[in-house]
Amino acid sequence: MMPIQDTIRLQKEALGIHEYAFMNTGDLVFSQGVRNLCEMNSCGEYGKTWACPPGVGTMEECQSKLLRYQHFFVFTTLHPLEDSYDFEGMMEGKERHRERCPAIAALFEKEYQDVFILSAEGCGRCERCTYPDAPCRFPDTLYPSIESYCVEVNRLAASAGIHYINGANTVTYFGCIFYDPTA
Ligand code: SF4
Repeated sequence: MMPIQDTIRLQKEALGIHEYAFMNTGDLVFSQGVRNLCEMNSCGEYGKTWACPPGVGTMEECQSKLLRYQHFFVFTTLHPLEDSYDFEGMMEGKERHRERCPAIAALFEKEYQDVFILSAEGCGRCERCTYPDAPCRFPDTLYPSIESYCVEVNRLAASAGIHYINGANTVTYFGCIFYDPTA
């Protein structure tokens, strides 16, 4: 089977990936400050779905879940905006990003038994989330936000050598796929 690095390189454009890197989980920086920002609920997603805190668990639980893996793949998707106030464009970009995640994740799921995906900002899949009364309806395709796991995305971008932002009138979304070649 072709190494995942070659598969990604060959399919990057078709998958709609802007930039990417293969990383070790030891490179991740976790921060209680990120969780504190979630708790301030400026995005309005806090406590609404299983994809955000507190539904994802404590910082310690999130950290320990990610550190079970040795490796992860980080990628961005890039979306145009009409201007820096184009909220609708940001939401559309987020949807396009979420739509691309399953195809990218599938490449890893084909090769590795244990794969875990983090994506961008909340869930929004069901009209009415089951949180907190019942388990998620789609746990296998639930992709919590990277920030919900207390990962500092700007520092992650810097250590991955990819852009955190990509200039005026664009929005950039991040995704991470955790996998373990020994699994
Ligand atoms: S998939 Fe549905 S039930 Fe699960 S977290 Fe998202 S909105 Fe909630």
